[in-house]
Amino acid sequence: MSNAAIENVRRLVEWNRQSGPDAQRSAPPPEIGSVGIIGAGIMGTAIAEAHASHLVPVVIHDAEPTAIADAVAAVSKNWGKARSDHSRENPCRVTAAKNISDIARCDLILESIVEILAVKLRLFEELQTTLNETSIVSTNTSTIPIHRLASGISDPARFCGFHFCHPVQERPLVEIVQGPQTGKDTIAALTAHARRIDRIPIVVQDGPGFVVNRLLFPYLAEGLELLREGYPAEAIDSAARDYGMAVGPLRMIDEIGLDTTLQAAWVLAASFPDRILSSPLLVSMIKAGRLGRKTGAGFFSHEGAKSSDVLDPKAEEILLPWVESTQGPQPKVAPARLMLPMLLEASRILEEGKVRDARDIDLAVLFGLGYPTGKGGLLYQADMLGAEGVLTLLSPLETIGPRFQATPMLQSMAKSGSVFYGKP
Ligand code: NAD
Repeated sequence: MSNAAIENVRRLVEWNRQSGPDAQRSAPPPEIGSVGIIGAGIMGTAIAEAHASHLVPVVIHDAEPTAIADAVAAVSKNWGKARSDHSRENPCRVTAAKNISDIARCDLILESIVEILAVKLRLFEELQTTLNETSIVSTNTSTIPIHRLASGISDPARFCGFHFCHPVQERPLVEIVQGPQTGKDTIAALTAHARRIDRIPIVVQDGPGFVVNRLLFPYLAEGLELLREGYPAEAIDSAARDYGMAVGPLRMIDEIGLDTTLQAAWVLAASFPDRILSSPLLVSMIKAGRLGRKTGAGFFSHEGAKSSDVLDPKAEEILLPWVESTQGPQPKVAPARLMLPMLLEASRILEEGKVRDARDIDLAVLFGLGYPTGKGGLLYQADMLGAEGVLTLLSPLETIGPRFQATPMLQSMAKSGSVFYGKP
């Protein structure tokens, strides 16, 4: 951990505050007064809580009435705990929607249902019939491009991605995804709204996985691949933690949900088949009903807030047919094996212009993915090493497959000696 790295993180946050689309306007965008959330699962519930704790009224809906009741109860319970002194003056403002038109009347609507295109499109069609024409409609999709979802919305200028990171209480980053037809006012209103609920917003361009999940999935997919190659689950996750990541890739899949991870992996694998593998391990685990923390069991077993640190013996049995047999002890997992695919993806994202600056990538990993603050950022670290140094680290891994080949951007940076961070 270096003081310069910590200072870089402080500067990133300041840069984000001063250079956002909300700060560039002469007058602040109109305040969002009410929020309607559709989908009361892991994310919908946590996002409702993030709003309630900032006194923003929220109405929540789900296809399953029990999911709505559970979400309202969970948010109210935490509200009571956090605000025991004030809860009488400021009652918790999360309520259950009676039907979809209760949601359609809100200033901001956030869809957070299952990650399946056809199901989301059907929902938007239904929403459209009672939608207030000044409402902003947004989606918390992890991976599905905004332009594909916008086809069901009559005013695509008022539609965009508003993607929170899990766990919402610990990861303040919000990705605001600009679809090809999203209006500037919509982006400015959501940026200001994100700050009001103490989030760090970054604006990114449309495409499968946007930015956060394009960075995350190479890390998760590599964790699964190492498991398939016969490395112990504990060794894989502890290599990531030794590097400083808050959560190892397998534990992270358990937290996200194996079903959501697989649906997102399909979207990414269809777009980037050379580097995102949709692992057969996930399919077998899902068939056995092991969806991760939300079902009490995934790769690890979970009971309440507690989780085991070793691969669950039942998971080991399910995975056995897929795992390569190994002779003798496996070498240690090198953190570079998990972190370099993320760095290569970051350079592709920059090359494609999906973010305006390398600093947005570092904000995404630090505040969205649990990248260690003490390292200053993924691209900050790459700059410390220099592109030439990154190529040296990659070289012994290149035989693993195309996902470890240096990108044209890194190659040309190594030739010219340039860095990711431009001059401040
Ligand atoms: P989840 O499985 O916990 O919850 C999904 C909820 O959607 C369920 O309660 C289900 O009953 C409800 N639902 C399904 N179809 C519906 C419909 N037609 N109308 C109303 N409700 C419906 O899923 P989640 O993890 O909360 O993910 C929700 C969304 O958030 C997905 O798009 C996912 O990609 C995205 N996301 C997930 C994470 C994560 O880590 N889990 C992180 C960021 C974004």
